[in-house]
Amino acid sequence: MTEGISMSPEELIGRVDALVRQYPIETSDPRDFLEARFDAGLAWVWAAPGEGGLGLDSTLQALVESRLAEKNAPLPFSYNPIGIGMTGPTLLAHGTAQQKSAYLRPLFSGREVWSQLFSEPSVGSDVAGLATRARRDGDDWVVDGQKVWTSWAHIAGRGLLLARTDPDVPKHAGLTAFVLDMTAPGVEVRPLRQMTGEAEFNEVYLVNVRIPDSDRIGEVGEGWRIATTTLMNERFSLGGTMKRDTAEVGAEVLDAYRAAVDRGDHNPVRRDEAVRLWIEANVNNLIAERSAAATNRGRPGPEGSVLKLATAEYRKRAANFLVDLLGAPAMLVASYRMNRPRLPLGQEVPETTSAFLRSRANTIEGGTSEILRNILGERVLGLPGDLRVDKGIPWRDIPR
Ligand SMILES: Cc1cc2nc3c(=O)[nH]c(=O)nc-3n(C[C@H](O)[C@H](O)[C@H](O)COP(=O)(O)OP(=O)(O)OC[C@H]3O[C@@H](n4cnc5c(N)ncnc54)[C@H](O)[C@@H]3O)c2cc1C
Repeated sequence: MTEGISMSPEELIGRVDALVRQYPIETSDPRDFLEARFDAGLAWVWAAPGEGGLGLDSTLQALVESRLAEKNAPLPFSYNPIGIGMTGPTLLAHGTAQQKSAYLRPLFSGREVWSQLFSEPSVGSDVAGLATRARRDGDDWVVDGQKVWTSWAHIAGRGLLLARTDPDVPKHAGLTAFVLDMTAPGVEVRPLRQMTGEAEFNEVYLVNVRIPDSDRIGEVGEGWRIATTTLMNERFSLGGTMKRDTAEVGAEVLDAYRAAVDRGDHNPVRRDEAVRLWIEANVNNLIAERSAAATNRGRPGPEGSVLKLATAEYRKRAANFLVDLLGAPAMLVASYRMNRPRLPLGQEVPETTSAFLRSRANTIEGGTSEILRNILGERVLGLPGDLRVDKGIPWRDIPR
């Protein structure tokens, strides 16, 4: 928490209401509304004034969110999920005053969409082993390499880039984080098509891309510490988003099972699974509350990883269950999604299969379930660490 004004919960609510009066939600451009929200210090109330906050206790953020939800206010996350969920919190924690003043406002309003450039063709789980090089050249850095699975890169104006600045030290020690201008010469973005039919992520090629040193986040060689902030926020953010959907999926599971019974399809095994899925949806909600409490105290920890693991695995099982209940029509929808033929007029395309296909990505994005189980085992349960054969070896000497 930073120095700011003191404000009672009532005064804070009054501030939210004044914002909504000034920018009526039904008639204002959502991005104008979000800019005004940032200027009113209601983006993240615990941040410093001028940085989208008021320097208040972080627990008051929940009050702002629930009042704005009551008013149906636009959600910044919908316009810029990676910016809001991951790169914004990273800039707030590690950015210079100049970076915060240049980047946070357009990030929050969604006028500037952000991407996160960590994964590469040969490194995802082992992101600290990445090979994209940044070499110092006067006041700039010159970057060469390739990133992959970069969500939203095709529409992003900025990206948070992790690159290797020193290959002669162990892998975690030789990384540095940068703000990348996605429109800079030498940045080429190539969309990748997913099995859902959408193309939300991309390959990004970086050839002789110049980044001014003023866009370096943190010290040279401090990239892993910065990346850890991003990854912890990512897991919390993904887990939180999936958790919201999970509550709906829990209800959908019961509705779908009831509908099957109404059709005369009584199946005790499915009944057990429906109830189990409903219970798990509610348990996930409790994990989410615990994770949110840790994050609000400014200490996002392994709870975020536990939440992401639980909700991602849940989403997959619930999607399997719903597709099983749907039977053959599920295949029709799968084929529609993949090939996009014209369906007969009036024929509805249920979302179940699309959710089934997308749920495969849930246990991969933001850290696979296996990696999250390692974190859970090591940091929460205190089990012996995973085998690490490259520990202490200079990155240059690690076989690739
Ligand atoms: C929808 C989606 C969006 C994404 N968006 C982004 C993005 O915006 N930016 C970005 O940088 N990346 C993004 N990613 C990439 C994502 O972070 C990686 O895919 C993920 O970390 C896994 O890395 P990988 O694909 O290289 O698999 P690998 O690391 O090669 O893993 C392959 C398999 O081996 C297992 N494995 C690996 N190491 C271990 C170990 N030590 N112990 C046990 N099992 C292990 C994994 O669990 C997995 O099953 C996205 C991925 C998806 C699916």
